[in-house]
Amino acid sequence: MTWRDEIVRRVRGEHLPDAPLAPRTAVRVGGPADLLCRPADADALAALLRAVRELGVPLSVLGGGANTLVADAGVRGVVLRLPQDFPGESTQGDTLVLSAGAPISRLPARAHARGLVGMEFLGGIPGTLGGAAAMNAGTRLGEMKDVVTRLELATADGAGFVPASALGYAYRTCRLPPGAVIARVEVRLRPGDVAASEALMREDRERRRATQPLDRPTFGSTFTNPPGEYAGRLVEAVGLKGHRVGNAVWSPVHANFVTNLGGATARDVLALVRLARARVKERFGIALETEVRLMGEFPPEELEGLDGHAAAGGGPSAASGGARPPEAT
Ligand SMILES: Cc1cc2nc3c(=O)[nH]c(=O)nc-3n(C[C@H](O)[C@H](O)[C@H](O)COP(=O)(O)OP(=O)(O)OC[C@H]3O[C@@H](n4cnc5c(N)ncnc54)[C@H](O)[C@@H]3O)c2cc1C
Repeated sequence: MTWRDEIVRRVRGEHLPDAPLAPRTAVRVGGPADLLCRPADADALAALLRAVRELGVPLSVLGGGANTLVADAGVRGVVLRLPQDFPGESTQGDTLVLSAGAPISRLPARAHARGLVGMEFLGGIPGTLGGAAAMNAGTRLGEMKDVVTRLELATADGAGFVPASALGYAYRTCRLPPGAVIARVEVRLRPGDVAASEALMREDRERRRATQPLDRPTFGSTFTNPPGEYAGRLVEAVGLKGHRVGNAVWSPVHANFVTNLGGATARDVLALVRLARARVKERFGIALETEVRLMGEFPPEELEGLDGHAAAGGGPSAASGGARPPEAT
């Protein structure tokens, strides 16, 4: 029996071998996953985490794929996608517990229905709540760490709520324990003016439509903003706004966004990223760091010079060492 058969046997849920990942990411780039798994519920998630550990199979977590660049060669092992709903969502006073696989938009919708505000920064950010919690997603209006109180983390050893204060939250990052998958997200909001909150979110979405290339596949900001600077301004200053490699381009609308003109490869995208990084380093002495998360097997030359790049494979894959899974068990 292969490791794939074994996982399909042990884990209740949806399983898709050799699953194309490009359509499951916002930028629409990259190769297939050996096995895409969507466990049916929390017990099936636990069974999956135990199975990959026992079988020595690498595991990567994909949320909505809004901030992920998948390698052209795809992803070895299991790519996990959570269902939108886990049992156990709740609201108590100003505290909400929501499934990590739920779309981000569920949070403002539930909050507003209960007269709660404080998550206006999420207006217009695509993805899942788990991805937003893992990335500390946000804008100048705020970020996830302002509202997350606890995350329910699932590992091969069990699941439990961990306080946000233990997760090393910082600008566009948090430190999840190796192998941990966010199963549910607990946030605390505050009672307030729902109409004003809705208006702020609407304005933010309109601002995005005017300033971001939302008509093309993209993963949003490519680089994080260095302290006191804007990555987009730096990329523009080194003459790369509108620069094209293959079918990927530094957007003429927003120079920190790479867009896919149709049929772009990860190789095209990373060529743009390396070029911008090298030019900005040379001209300004600033080492730009990627905000986009890389997932899968990239040839070493594609990652050259990206010493600050976000670890390939997403959070949990590092736990299994990124090794090739054994084909037979
Ligand atoms: C047009 C556009 C605009 C954007 N604007 C913004 C913005 O204003 N601000 C901002 O912060 N971001 C922005 N983004 C980026 C993106 O929307 C956010 O980072 C979002 O939170 C990603 O969520 P996701 O579920 O799609 O994550 P994914 O891209 O699927 O994953 C991102 C990372 O989180 C990890 N992860 C996902 N789910 C889990 C989980 N359950 N447990 C453990 N790890 C997990 C993944 O392994 C990966 O490392 C934008 C993207 C686009 C395409």
